[in-house]
Amino acid sequence: MTIRVAIAGARGKMGQEAVHTIMKNTGMELVSILDYKEIGETLADTNLFPQNFTVPIFLDLKELHEKTKPDVLVDLTSPESVYQHTRDALGLGIRPVVGTTGFSDEELKELTAYAKEHRIGCIIAPNFAIGAVLMMKFAEQAAKYLPDIEIIELHHDQKLDAPSGTAMKTANMISKQREPHMQGHPKEKETLEGARGANYDGMRIHSVRLPGLLAHQQVLLGGEGQLLTIRHDSFNRGSFMSGVTLSVTKVMEIDNLVYGLENIID
Ligand code: NAP
Repeated sequence: MTIRVAIAGARGKMGQEAVHTIMKNTGMELVSILDYKEIGETLADTNLFPQNFTVPIFLDLKELHEKTKPDVLVDLTSPESVYQHTRDALGLGIRPVVGTTGFSDEELKELTAYAKEHRIGCIIAPNFAIGAVLMMKFAEQAAKYLPDIEIIELHHDQKLDAPSGTAMKTANMISKQREPHMQGHPKEKETLEGARGANYDGMRIHSVRLPGLLAHQQVLLGGEGQLLTIRHDSFNRGSFMSGVTLSVTKVMEIDNLVYGLENIID
């Protein structure tokens, strides 16, 4: 069966890469694009793609659904729009594959409950890079033995949310092995606000934003006389694409919401 795919955010850096990836995949068909700006009737009108890329663009998901009947909506947009897109897609029976980060815990809970109740697949993957998923798994494993942890995530300076979805997911996975506790000196005091980073159950998360970076993270686990550093770097957006195609295939086989690629790989 050919999987019919729609993409939201196709003009963006991730979206453009995803358009080419889906177009090249013989088991998938790119049937439509969801945008929120009047930028033309087809992808070719955006001048970002070859003239034979005549995939239609819609400004309304309901109309997109009626006219092109996608099985899956791949969302690579922004934290402001992603929740509504995901909620609307589920309501229309379209299976979301979401790479956009920025969901709150409440939104994730609500979407999880909705997908379960309506028995529909949904995959939300804060990081589609397989190496990043392994970094998170290894950090979770190591946290059992080295529970004093700081996460440093580093991204390009156009990223809108902080901490990154990957850092939040890593902290969430680590918290399954680590009892909440304060780290550092009990009397430590910030002389400059934010110096110690964000506080997740006593674990610290630091967000670096600089031009030149793409997506990087290191997890530092300190113990008496030792430091374990687990680091992953994405050097280009190609690193995310095998995770996108894997998720599009997998979302057709599940009837609930899966948060994190680590839950769909062996
Ligand atoms: P980007 O270059 O800014 O692309 C986002 C695109 O979405 C832009 O073209 C934007 O259009 C468009 N957009 C915004 N709101 C929209 C809406 N309501 N409907 C349709 N399109 C909309 O950003 P990016 O680097 O591609 O990243 C996109 C998202 O993926 C971010 O949340 C990022 O954190 C995430 N990300 C995830 C992974 C992963 O592995 N899961 C990896 C990298 C990035 P305008 O520019 O005209 O506003």
